[in-house]
Amino acid sequence: MKKNWFIFNSKNEILLKDNKIPCAEVSPVECPKENHVFEFSEGCSCFGFDGKAPENYEFEGLRAAHLKLERPVHYKAGKASELVNFDLTYRFCPTCGGRLEYSSEISKKCQNCEKEIWPRINPAIIVLIYRGKDEILLSHARNFRGSFYGLTAGFLETGESLEECIKREISEETSLKVKNIRYFASQPWPYPSQEMMGFFAEYESGEIKIQEEELTDCRWFKRGELPEIPPKISMARMLIDYWDTHREEF
Ligand SMILES: [Zn+2]
Repeated sequence: MKKNWFIFNSKNEILLKDNKIPCAEVSPVECPKENHVFEFSEGCSCFGFDGKAPENYEFEGLRAAHLKLERPVHYKAGKASELVNFDLTYRFCPTCGGRLEYSSEISKKCQNCEKEIWPRINPAIIVLIYRGKDEILLSHARNFRGSFYGLTAGFLETGESLEECIKREISEETSLKVKNIRYFASQPWPYPSQEMMGFFAEYESGEIKIQEEELTDCRWFKRGELPEIPPKISMARMLIDYWDTHREEF
């Protein structure tokens, strides 16, 4: 029976043929013996492979692959990449250095001290800040690949609540204060191992003072006059689109 083969290298790139997931009875490359093959969904298997792509195949960055794969297939690829990432990068116990072996489909156990290890997921927040009914804050960060404007985002730090994280990131990047923080939605962001959590927050006080190491620009933009914004795959875009189509809620 034919299967879909989701094959990743350690750069989080996925093997494609003719811009599709390879579909065949046998995998186009052999799974190295130290790696594992996972059946993660009906008719779908994945594993890590760090060799060269065979002729007529190519490795493509997982995020960029969203332009080629249909959305449900791209989501599946995201899940598969996390299984493979765990397989490839968690080999030894962080406490004693003993060898880790799988103890369930998504956990490993140290063969020496018996410590159990699960894949690490890094929580990150992203927040749309609005002022009045018709203005939002958008910024251009130095690490954006493109000229678009996005939202304030950052990683949760140890010992922090999500609300504290949101207020700290906004204060660090822009010096502004916000209130009325409300949750919107979340999204796995496997580039690698992140979970994006989207929020809205209302401007409270302060003047914009940008953190120059992080941002090149940050401004209020009016409804109907937005600059280029992030691609549809992103939580930033979902937040902006929601704000743009639900004026009555702001
Ligand atoms: Zn150990």
